[in-house]
Amino acid sequence: MADATEADIRGRVLDWFHETWDPDVSLIEWRTRLLDSGWAVPSWSTDWFGQDLPAWADGVAHSTIRQAGGVALPLGAASSLAAPTLHEHASDELKGRVLRPALTGEQTWCQLFSEPGAGSDLAGLKSTAVRDGDTWIVNGQKVWNTSADHADMAILVARHDWDAVKHAGLTYFVLDMHQEGVEVRPIEQMNYHHSFMEVFMTDARVPHANMVGGIGDGWRVARATLAHERRYAGERRLSFAPGAKGRVVEEARAEAAIYNETYKWYPQRMGRPDLVTDRARVAGRDDDPVLRDDMMKLHSLEKASQWTAERAKASRALGRPPGSEGSIGKLATSEVARRANALHTRIAGAEGMLRSTTDPVHETVAEVLVSTPAQSIAGGTDEIQHNILGESFLGLPKEPGADRGIPYRDVGRS
Ligand SMILES: Cc1cc2nc3c(=O)[nH]c(=O)nc-3n(C[C@H](O)[C@H](O)[C@H](O)COP(=O)(O)OP(=O)(O)OC[C@H]3O[C@@H](n4cnc5c(N)ncnc54)[C@H](O)[C@@H]3O)c2cc1C
Repeated sequence: MADATEADIRGRVLDWFHETWDPDVSLIEWRTRLLDSGWAVPSWSTDWFGQDLPAWADGVAHSTIRQAGGVALPLGAASSLAAPTLHEHASDELKGRVLRPALTGEQTWCQLFSEPGAGSDLAGLKSTAVRDGDTWIVNGQKVWNTSADHADMAILVARHDWDAVKHAGLTYFVLDMHQEGVEVRPIEQMNYHHSFMEVFMTDARVPHANMVGGIGDGWRVARATLAHERRYAGERRLSFAPGAKGRVVEEARAEAAIYNETYKWYPQRMGRPDLVTDRARVAGRDDDPVLRDDMMKLHSLEKASQWTAERAKASRALGRPPGSEGSIGKLATSEVARRANALHTRIAGAEGMLRSTTDPVHETVAEVLVSTPAQSIAGGTDEIQHNILGESFLGLPKEPGADRGIPYRDVGRS
């Protein structure tokens, strides 16, 4: 099947869909049928909800089902980060327990990676896992954990060995968020949203069977998750075909509404360049030559950035290894957000600081001004993208590191 064409796949998915679609069953029942058909993740093996097809077949199957009026997989950390990582690295026993509910949407997930002193330097994390027979006892603090307040499960990286060198002392686990010893506290963001949390773990117990990969494989498995994170970064909205209806669709809409609540400020974080020209027109500034010049520069950069993202998507769909376009695209979206923010500020003036007005577009612009900093931080900061480009693609020497080759216990930390 490796030589199947897109048209073949669309045809086969449609045949299956028309035979199977029942709009009046529950969402979970529908997704159970989807999983059992092999069209949930066709690039996975036949043992695990797939058909051994190439990577691009996943997107083709999902869009075909949606366009036909059906529902595919849920969005979120469960299907985009946890499931693909666990599919590649977890034991069959663990996969058997967690993959199905992650893909049907019965369980939602979050990512417990970043810590107060370990974001860009993720491998410098300090949360500690100590083995106690068949369980691990985890202590530490995570931060910026999106949707941790309503997650059932988490992917977690913790340090099991302080005497190993930095990257070798890490192990990757699946954590039950509802257990004793896990406390989630919301963070008040400067744009008034609460999409990410702090998570405190105090003697939280993780069964040994929930370890992903081997002891000390944490960095290798975490890198797989980060690669999936880059791959799914743009997919933050679930769409439904016009006229799609029935119980499955209604339950999926309700699920999407909860999901979208978390991400509703994400368009503003990208600077809303689409609003700039209209705002200039409404403010009577569209004949200002300096503003016009900058609006055209913004438009050109935005288009170039979209094309880079399309190129990266096409390359991934062909199963090619990630190239420099991932980092270049990420840097371009940060720059578009910054420039759009600056233009909105110049057009709105001091009024841009007013959050409550009778004009909803103005409110959106006010949110843009305090949301765009997140764009150049989430998913790897601009500086880290520069480092990746320099070291991995231009062949420049690696950054000097005082923590190389010595036990992590002996590394100076702030
Ligand atoms: C919207 C959003 C959602 C997020 N969701 C999650 C989530 O669900 N789960 C999770 O675990 N984390 C999440 N994060 C955290 C995110 O991964 C981190 O914020 C990010 O990795 C940066 O880490 P930091 O905030 O600790 O900043 P730091 O790493 O402390 O960086 C501070 C500054 O120093 C610079 N810097 C750091 N190292 C270098 C270097 N080597 N060279 C040059 N400059 C450097 C950075 O570029 C930055 O400007 C989220 C963040 C955001 C903004």
